[in-house]
Amino acid sequence: MVDRRQFLIGTASLSLATLLPRQLFSQEQKRSRIILLGTKGGPRVGESGRSNPATLILANDVPYVVDCGYGTSRQLLNAGVPLNKLRYIFITHLHSDHSLELGPLIYNAWITGIPIRVDAYGPSGLRRMTQDFFNYQKFDIDTRIVDEGRPDPRKLVVAHDFNQPGLVMQNEDVKVSSCLVRHPPIKLAFAYRFDTKDRSVVISGDTAYAPELAEFAKGADILIHEVMYLPGVEALIRRLPNAKRLREHLLAAHTLPEDVGKIADRAGVKTLVLSHFVPGDDPSITDEQWAAGARKHFNGRIIVGKDLMEI
Ligand SMILES: [Zn+2]
Ligand SMILES: [Zn+2]
Repeated sequence: MVDRRQFLIGTASLSLATLLPRQLFSQEQKRSRIILLGTKGGPRVGESGRSNPATLILANDVPYVVDCGYGTSRQLLNAGVPLNKLRYIFITHLHSDHSLELGPLIYNAWITGIPIRVDAYGPSGLRRMTQDFFNYQKFDIDTRIVDEGRPDPRKLVVAHDFNQPGLVMQNEDVKVSSCLVRHPPIKLAFAYRFDTKDRSVVISGDTAYAPELAEFAKGADILIHEVMYLPGVEALIRRLPNAKRLREHLLAAHTLPEDVGKIADRAGVKTLVLSHFVPGDDPSITDEQWAAGARKHFNGRIIVGKDLMEI
């Protein structure tokens, strides 16, 4: 003990330049990572390219999964995250493109190896959705518990429903808060903000233009915002029998690139990441077309998101 104290006193007299590289190195090791897992908006499974919505934040190497669109388990593996490392899930709203793989992801974590515990947060209805999934797979789960000696996955998961914006959870690595956004006819649609030790990131979830989101994202390093390109949507729905109704829904529930730029500008974020593309599988829409509208109002860095891109 005496030796150690003497050592510390000794290092205090060293120049700052000697100490700095070591400090930087330890910060680098714990750097928060943000990886887009799925960037295609909407419930339809794309033929190629983008997977359905999910975003990964690694804070102190612990995964926080935001939304569980179809394909989330596979994309987590593709991002190098073993499924039994699953620990936290956040659902922005209960549309299926954000929740279809909630149950299967938990199941996949369980069957891979035993996760310590999974906490899932989301709007009211999430707990019921989780229970319903376990009922849906009751036969398999009950069989494997007896036959393979596995623990009961129903006891590994804690689902936290909430219906008010505010603080969602906090631990020593991250503070997660939520903001109510505008996604009619759904009333409970939330954006999430993650403040880690080194970065802050806001994920819009699905929303129409919502100025309150700019307030919520104030000073964040990164805003990941959904986006809809109207000419692309019109080309897509022209031939559908419910085209008029669908166009009305999409316009009321999603955000055009120009408005995304306004939100990013007002929030004063450093980087805007476009994700949840609607339409998400039209290869004729270029990155420049996605970004151009936002750039009219936002001078910062704009990233046109791709699956498995790390921010
Ligand atoms: Zn969506
Ligand atoms: Zn939605």
